Amino acid sequence: MKTNEVFDVLIAGGGLAGLSLALALESGGFKVAVIDKLPPVEMLEEKYDGRSSAIAYANMRMLEVLGVKDELLEYGEIKEILVCDGKVKDGAKKGGARGFTLHFDESEISDSEPLGYMIENRHTRLALDKVAKAHKNITRITGQSYISHRELGNIVEVEISDGRKLQGKLLVGCDGRGSKVRANAGIKTNKFGYNQTGIVTTVKLEKPHNSVAYEYFLPSGPFAILPLPGNRASIVWCEPHAKAQAIIAQDKTFIEAELQKRFGDILGKVEICAPVFAYPLSMELASDWYRPRVALCGDAAHGIHPVAGQGFNLGLKDVAALAEVLINSRDVGLDIGDEIVLEEYAKWRRTDTMMVALACDAFVRLFSNDFAPLRLLRNIGIGAVDNISPMRKFFCRHAGGDIGDLPKLLRGEELV
Ligand SMILES: Cc1cc2nc3c(=O)[nH]c(=O)nc-3n(C[C@H](O)[C@H](O)[C@H](O)COP(=O)(O)OP(=O)(O)OC[C@H]3O[C@@H](n4cnc5c(N)ncnc54)[C@H](O)[C@@H]3O)c2cc1C
Repeated sequence: MKTNEVFDVLIAGGGLAGLSLALALESGGFKVAVIDKLPPVEMLEEKYDGRSSAIAYANMRMLEVLGVKDELLEYGEIKEILVCDGKVKDGAKKGGARGFTLHFDESEISDSEPLGYMIENRHTRLALDKVAKAHKNITRITGQSYISHRELGNIVEVEISDGRKLQGKLLVGCDGRGSKVRANAGIKTNKFGYNQTGIVTTVKLEKPHNSVAYEYFLPSGPFAILPLPGNRASIVWCEPHAKAQAIIAQDKTFIEAELQKRFGDILGKVEICAPVFAYPLSMELASDWYRPRVALCGDAAHGIHPVAGQGFNLGLKDVAALAEVLINSRDVGLDIGDEIVLEEYAKWRRTDTMMVALACDAFVRLFSNDFAPLRLLRNIGIGAVDNISPMRKFFCRHAGGDIGDLPKLLRGEELV
């Protein structure tokens, strides 16, 4: 980095959202610096994250335009989704979760695209890292934390942990749920926990998964089986905190037996083939999307429950919208750090984010219990959606991120 170099955009946080944003902005001709507190080797290791993400098909179009899809080592497709309002029966042979079933199929919406894709987060990080390295207008500053920022006229100056000061026209906080950028900008959050921990691991299956994703709403929390290449599946298994801690403290054989109870025998014998991770689950929504010269993006703006696999998908939509707004504004001579420009971005993202966050919250509250009247109500709801084709299509397109006023990248178009 040259001394006194001024960037167009400074991005605090080079995770999934931060690096995606850097690539989108660079493709629009911006000079970008990305600051991340971790060195890349740490973030690329299997033990760093362990999650896989269901990526909506519209968002995969964007990863394709940015050159990331081609660099993914592998990814799976979701061709069908089965939703059960189910209860665990004793013994694997008796058949795991059971209940009213809702069925979504890729053929309802498109001849050419699946309902979604399954990518291990470490593979997404690896691909983003590789593509970002190939762009000279992206400067990576790793192993250093964002500390603070201040406005200097039409410039924002950021101080990082080694004492250096970087200048840009705009600072974007992509620093995740506990965002320091958000706190320093004086943006408050609405946060509450679910008393649930998401137990995450990957399993090898005996019978083929046929690209079907299963979501079981069990009384103690959602349980998802998500298809990965190599006939593996990513598991997101939500339990109350204390029970989750007790489960992950046990050995592999015990956890496999618990998993098998929930799976039943639909996919044969289940074998854990990766580390087991635990993520406490909460909702954390920023009260605003920006301040002068500062915008928020990804989990820094909205952390939600993973029940519908929408967190990173929302982050990618933020990236597509923010990049397009900044490019259009620059092209008509506007200052990209100006509140008028940032309000344009917030306007685009506010309603969609709120709707998705509230829908996920309602799903968790409605389904994570065994209260008979609620069970009846949700079975009526599930039955209605399953029987009405336009409603099924609407849900499929929503899950696929293909609804509303889509930014160019989500339509599969280049930004410039
Ligand atoms: C169990 C579980 C399953 C999920 N499944 C899905 C799914 O199927 N589909 C989906 O779309 N989403 C899913 N999500 C949500 C998804 O994982 C997140 O939305 C996504 O990881 C957020 O990415 P991000 O880049 O915004 O934030 P993060 O991944 O949190 O990245 C933040 C980055 O900022 C860096 N950082 C933090 N502080 C600083 C600082 N002060 N200075 C410099 N750098 C800093 C960190 O090192 C990190 O690299 C799931 C979440 C959970 C918990």
